Amino acid sequence: MEFSQFANILKRYSSTTNIANFVVELVDEIMEDDFNIRNPLSNLGQNMLEGIFSGRRQISKSNANAIKKNLDKARFELYIDKISPDARTELCHILKSYVGSDATFDNIASKCANLFADIITHIADKNTRYSDNLIHEFAVDQNIKENSLSYETISLLLAEVCLCCPLCGADLVRKIGMSAVANYAFVDIYPLYPTKEQSMQLGAIKVPDCDLSTIENKIALCRLCESEYLFTFSKSLYDKMQVQKHNAKLIFEAKSHIFGLNIENELTNIVHSLTSLTNEQLSNLLNYQPTKVESKIYPKYSLLKNQIRWDIVQYYNYINDLFAQQSSAKVNKLLKTVQYASDSFIDSGLEQTVVFECMTKWISNKTDTIDITACRIMTSYFVQNCEVFHEISQ
Ligand SMILES: [Zn+2]
Repeated sequence: MEFSQFANILKRYSSTTNIANFVVELVDEIMEDDFNIRNPLSNLGQNMLEGIFSGRRQISKSNANAIKKNLDKARFELYIDKISPDARTELCHILKSYVGSDATFDNIASKCANLFADIITHIADKNTRYSDNLIHEFAVDQNIKENSLSYETISLLLAEVCLCCPLCGADLVRKIGMSAVANYAFVDIYPLYPTKEQSMQLGAIKVPDCDLSTIENKIALCRLCESEYLFTFSKSLYDKMQVQKHNAKLIFEAKSHIFGLNIENELTNIVHSLTSLTNEQLSNLLNYQPTKVESKIYPKYSLLKNQIRWDIVQYYNYINDLFAQQSSAKVNKLLKTVQYASDSFIDSGLEQTVVFECMTKWISNKTDTIDITACRIMTSYFVQNCEVFHEISQ
């Protein structure tokens, strides 16, 4: 578990309203109460502390070490014990995946203290390959599998969002050393077991038609966004999640159509040469306006249109020259495959911005290229060359 996620969960039980003060307070409470011992976070500025709380910034390894040296778990237990029994019971439920399902309101304090100490130790010993924390993470996986979802269902839900959190884009599985670490949780989009925050908002939301107990009502999120969905729930967040699920399903279905498509090596070669392109090689810019783009992209996507137009002026001739050096039979076959993939996404009813992004990711996967800019330029090329998008009928 990340520090920010832990802090976000505990924040709701604190009367300290200022976020920066709360972060310092939380760390104070797990350090020995001694005049000579200084909390290293107390020197940090407001922005930095807020960043640590939100997860944008991390506690540094040296600060974590200083905290680790003076850990006082018993003090932290007292801090948690001050929370009301009802709230502690709620905490058991929220932290179940991390502290085990045997947590109760009278042992949650010591479990929280251990968890917090693990988080700090993990940051301090960042290079340790199998820290308690990692083992914890795997326990969570086991937990999910044992509790409810089959392996196939988990795979499907992860594939549906391409292993990225649909709310913040974080990776749902991370690689640390030689280990894969799960950073995902599955939430019920329409809450089946609502938290207090969710209950207060549910009145404004129409119950969806689907069977709520099936994966139709589930989506994979990163752990931080899971907390957000549980504890800062709102109708607008719910609506956003429904749109994400809808899009994820459409993309997934379209992808299953193009699953077996193979592309020619010609494309891989061109994308790879784009990744190492220098300014000197880019002498032959397009000297006319790429009018096809105008007639293919809806006016509401003007940012996308401008981006494509720019890519085409800069790179169209360069890519065309590379294609001209290849076997025309193979190039024609490739262009047909690209068009088929693009049409599959378009036919699913996805918005143009999403189709463009899907095509870029598809090219990235198929050509084994992590340089997304090169893949985006390639997609722009295919827009001008007519494989991606069609003329909008007036
Ligand atoms: Zn997220």
